[in-house]
Amino acid sequence: MAPLVDPFARPISYLRVSVTDRCDFRCTYCMAEHMQFLPKKDLLTLEELDRLCSAFVRMGVEKLRITGGEPLVRRDILTFFRAMSRHLDSGALKELTLTTNGSQLARFAADLAACGVRRVNVSLDTLDEGKFAQVTRWGRLPQVLDGIRAATAAGLKVKINAVALKGFNEDELFRLVDWCGAEGHDLTFIEVMPMGDMGEETRLDQYWPLRELRERLAERFTLIDLAERTGGPARYVRLAESGQKIGFITPLTHNFCESCNRVRLTCTGELYMCLGQEDMADLRAPLRASPEDGVVEAAIRAAIARKPKGHDFDYSRQRVAGQMSRHMSHTGG
Ligand code: SAM
Ligand code: SF4
Repeated sequence: MAPLVDPFARPISYLRVSVTDRCDFRCTYCMAEHMQFLPKKDLLTLEELDRLCSAFVRMGVEKLRITGGEPLVRRDILTFFRAMSRHLDSGALKELTLTTNGSQLARFAADLAACGVRRVNVSLDTLDEGKFAQVTRWGRLPQVLDGIRAATAAGLKVKINAVALKGFNEDELFRLVDWCGAEGHDLTFIEVMPMGDMGEETRLDQYWPLRELRERLAERFTLIDLAERTGGPARYVRLAESGQKIGFITPLTHNFCESCNRVRLTCTGELYMCLGQEDMADLRAPLRASPEDGVVEAAIRAAIARKPKGHDFDYSRQRVAGQMSRHMSHTGG
């Protein structure tokens, strides 16, 4: 089958799938405390998710990242991971992975490893128990640290994702770097993005440009730029002194769109061709319209033909332009 290529000649090889909009945390930059979640009937069933993801794999997707909401709170999620592992076995899929808050990892790590998952991204913005409770509202740090240990014990490579938050974890920069170094985890910092309607002021207050974070890091370490590109918004450096790899995801201060290889599927079957644009294609209707996969494959191709050149996020005039009304938990960060 012809692989998916968008109008700007970018091959689409990476699909991020949000399997639920629910979560057991309420991170302040991600969700309102009293979130209205989608009615369960609107969610794709695990079988429908399987049909859709398998269609993408047939069309050339080689990397599947499962996210949410919190993917590990979706009921029977292991059934879905087990189903996807057949695409690893066939060689069509090169990587099956997930982004998680880590709260359920102690329970799931060994089973995930058995499904062929090799790496997991765990979101962790602070190593201070009180601050962790504050930023996640409902989370408990020891539970997440247990989860990370379980993942490592199961043979999973853990990458820590930390959102850079002004006045919140600025003072923990070196603590996070040192802890990741000691535990053997790669670490990536993410610039806070204007997702969800949480008030312009809060958002700009939270914004800690990674350019500044990088300068702070360079006061103690020699940063060696790595050529490595993932087709996404991450750039990497190696710290000469410790050998650690540190990533920076800067959707706001750098334009990374020209090499974008990814699209995002929500738990209701909406396909977002760009994280920073409102345009999306509904794949649930064509999926449910026919048991034949040809219909949904045609819908996928039509959607990819609309993938835009880039996004419109911009903080440059001290206001948030291109703000997205949907929450990160909807598109699956
Ligand atoms: N619940 C899982 C987790 O927290 O890893 C997966 C979903 S979460 C939406 C995915 C990632 O998006 C997390 O690393 C989270 O920190 C990040 N995120 C959420 N809201 C964000 C925002 N407004 N700006 C930048 N990153 C955000
Ligand atoms: Fe949940 Fe992840 Fe959003 Fe935090 S960032 S509220 S853990 S979905």
